[in-house]
Amino acid sequence: MGVLFEAKNEEQRVGMLENYIEKAGGCAIIDGGFATQLEIHGADINDPLWSALCLINSPHLISKVHLEYLEAGADIIVTSSYQATLPGFISRGLSLEQGEKLLEKSVKLARDARDVFWKTVEKIGDHSYNRALVAASIGSYGAYLADGSEYSGCYGDNVDLEKLKDFHRRRLQVLVEAGPDILAFETIPNKLEAQAIAELLEEENVQIPSWICFSSVDGVNAPSGESFDDCLKVLNKSKRIEGVGINCAPPQFVHSLVQKFKELTGKVIVVYPNSGETWDGIQKRWLPSKCFNDDKFKVLATRWRDSGAKLIGGCCRTTPSTVRGLSKVLKHSS
Ligand SMILES: [Zn+2]
Repeated sequence: MGVLFEAKNEEQRVGMLENYIEKAGGCAIIDGGFATQLEIHGADINDPLWSALCLINSPHLISKVHLEYLEAGADIIVTSSYQATLPGFISRGLSLEQGEKLLEKSVKLARDARDVFWKTVEKIGDHSYNRALVAASIGSYGAYLADGSEYSGCYGDNVDLEKLKDFHRRRLQVLVEAGPDILAFETIPNKLEAQAIAELLEEENVQIPSWICFSSVDGVNAPSGESFDDCLKVLNKSKRIEGVGINCAPPQFVHSLVQKFKELTGKVIVVYPNSGETWDGIQKRWLPSKCFNDDKFKVLATRWRDSGAKLIGGCCRTTPSTVRGLSKVLKHSS
């Protein structure tokens, strides 16, 4: 079976994601941390390509993680392409063609996992699963640089709109061609990149819906210091973007940001924060979170839903157990 969303024109495309959310009961669940789970299964991802390294070395682990999230109740699984970029693969000695094949593979692995899982649950008959959507992950330019700029928003003076569009263009084309249901632009740190993506979707005439999520380091603004008011003004004009929101920020920031976004946009609000643990860049390890765990996360998530978020999941350091908790409280207690 092909993609769920196959729009022939704008009328068909707009609202497709909202329809799916409606069918899922008003709130759909996104999966959780990918790299975290790959590491649990023994993958070595200490590399600038991060989880994209597994596309080369251990694709079976990627399939395994997708299946774990589907079993946990994810309505949307996000592909392993966050840090998979063509220049990144080329710098590892791969050809352009090999890099493109790996991007395609990231979508194929997720689609195959979704289809296998759906075949299995369909046989059961009485179950609470929805046929999941596959969201192709597209990390920010900063994620490719792997220098932390996805959390500072500082790309420097020589990075302009055209450079960002050029960076995103070919990967976008390859991923769209591979047939995901949605495009998930993640940890976008500034207005310039949001604008580049909105313009690119238009120029490339992309017919599947997209969401764009920003990171936030202060809980108020985009990492660049620009206000979300400014950032969303750019995105609100685009009919190709169905969702906007926040990913990979600490969960304690999310409630007030959902309230803010609700005032600033009519688009679907998407949130998938990290676990609230902090990365110690000197010791190279995660510092345990003092007050966040799966129970706390799911309690907070009901507040995010109640204030208007319609797509909710987890980012770094969240696990299938987090998603199982979300699925329980968000799907069955509204
Ligand atoms: Zn994250």
